[in-house]
Amino acid sequence: MTSIYGVTKEQLEQYFTNLGEKKFKAVQLFEWIYRKRIHNFDEITNIKKTLIEKIKNDFEIDDLKIVSKKEDIDVKKYLFELKDKNKIEAVLMNHDYGNSLCISTQVGCNMSCTFCESGRLKKVRNLDASEMILQILKIEEDLNIRISHVVLMGIGEPFDNYDNVIKFINIVNEPYGIALGSRHITVSTSGLVNKIYEFINDGKQVNLAISLHAPNDELRSKIMPINKAYNIKELITAIKQYILKTNRRVTFEYIMLKDVNDTDECALELSNLLKGINCYVNLIPYNETTHIEYKKSSKDKILKFYDILKKNKINVTIRREFGRKVNAACGQLRSNYEEGL
Ligand code: SAH
Repeated sequence: MTSIYGVTKEQLEQYFTNLGEKKFKAVQLFEWIYRKRIHNFDEITNIKKTLIEKIKNDFEIDDLKIVSKKEDIDVKKYLFELKDKNKIEAVLMNHDYGNSLCISTQVGCNMSCTFCESGRLKKVRNLDASEMILQILKIEEDLNIRISHVVLMGIGEPFDNYDNVIKFINIVNEPYGIALGSRHITVSTSGLVNKIYEFINDGKQVNLAISLHAPNDELRSKIMPINKAYNIKELITAIKQYILKTNRRVTFEYIMLKDVNDTDECALELSNLLKGINCYVNLIPYNETTHIEYKKSSKDKILKFYDILKKNKINVTIRREFGRKVNAACGQLRSNYEEGL
């Protein structure tokens, strides 16, 4: 049955119109689902019983099962089980500006980035919009909090599940629903250039982050196979187009891998690559994982890299390290769970 969490307000309006009902019923239903957070359609008091029965026949208020939860001071990590028993994860981080939830977009991932745990399990399937929405609702309910920011940086490549991701954005944006503003949502992509162009045309106002991780094709192709399909030049061309069309700043993520991409030369090359582009670089201390050989760069190396970028007038920040104790990096919790760790 169709999950109620996977329908947009427009689709619900259409649904009610087709039944000969007023379309504002969609707003009423949205309010029950997302404001009052009901778990049963029978709790609705302002829609007539016969119509409730019809709704019950067509939609379900489904759930997401929490399999495990790990906590550190500033981070909580959830492992969820989907209806088909597949597992996904979401990570909640406390920032000074609020809390930010990192959600998964696929079961597994086909990008095969060599440093990333998620890609060790190939894509099994896409998540639908409802399964993305439920990650937010479940954690809000579990902790009795409101999530202020959502980042699509968990397991999966959001732009390899483009339509569901756009639908998800439409649903969380909805003022009568969760009402999370576009500026509070960030989509991160490994660089599916064709989809970046589609994204430009869709005109969504959410933040865009690009996992760059290397300043040249030789290195990037080694650690991110997607670079063989869309090289850095094509990627940067698309990003410039995005900035031109949206007037928005782009974030480049750059994982610091010891002796791989953290040299002074890399920092200089990266500065030259990004010169004049309205962006900032987020240097990410690599979260080491048992299955993958890469080591994290030393603090000194990261600071040196940072300084070189700064000197070259590139906006740069170093990401605070979250939840190393709970294996908060992409894909690590699911992977450990499956091995009984
Ligand atoms: N597929 C998308 C979104 C998921 S990955 C993308 O590639 O952007 C989210 C971010 O976490 C990416 O920048 C990814 O490169 C990074 N990441 C993956 N494994 C990591 C690890 N072990 N330590 C730190 N960051 C990691």
